[in-house]
Amino acid sequence: MDDSAFNAFSCLSREFLGVLMPRGCAGCDAPDEVLCQSCLRLFSGAHRRDVDLGCKWPCFFCGFYEGAVRTAILSWKDHDDEECDRCFAALLARLALHVIGPAPSEGFLIVPAPSSSSSMRRRGRDHLLPVVRGMSMILRRQGIESYVSADLRIRNVHTKSVETRTAAGRSIRLEGSVCLMPRSRCSGREVLLVDDIVTTGTTMRRCAQALERGGAHVGVCLALAGSAKNVGAMGLTDIHSA
Ligand SMILES: [Zn+2]
Repeated sequence: MDDSAFNAFSCLSREFLGVLMPRGCAGCDAPDEVLCQSCLRLFSGAHRRDVDLGCKWPCFFCGFYEGAVRTAILSWKDHDDEECDRCFAALLARLALHVIGPAPSEGFLIVPAPSSSSSMRRRGRDHLLPVVRGMSMILRRQGIESYVSADLRIRNVHTKSVETRTAAGRSIRLEGSVCLMPRSRCSGREVLLVDDIVTTGTTMRRCAQALERGGAHVGVCLALAGSAKNVGAMGLTDIHSA
């Protein structure tokens, strides 16, 4: 079966299954929607919190990781709701369009935060990759050159290492656990770093540090959702809300 026949078959199968088992919104289970309008609205912010996270890179996310936003992300990540890929790609592209400047002449390099090999085995896929690819396509359609490159990986960590007995040792171990792929060509490139959720900011920091050690410049970090804990105390800034 060639690709076009396979795609047509997939669409027919989805439509057929949709008649038998209509889907619900990934966030609130409203019928016949991947994400209903009210759940989409919860993802429509552009919240900035790099300062609160002690992160030197500008860090933005679409919605607070709670309620329907959390349910939708967990449904996508851990319950194989791949139909969310397109919605989340559009939301991240929309966020990027709000916060990035003009593309450099060689275009932005979009780098997804890596999943551990055990998470990928459990999910059967790298869930962030189709989303950042969709995001890049939307940006290109808007005249912003961008290319996806999965340049980061999580190095296997040996938890029984002597170094892990002290807080400093654990910190060194964590900092070292994200590294560049050997084939990375990020040097000299302007990077948009993308993760699904930002909570403490540790993963974003580790990813950004690995990229900059490889000679890239991380322009901005983007995520679908971020922790809403202690919002007031953290001085979270909304630069846009729908
Ligand atoms: Zn909903």
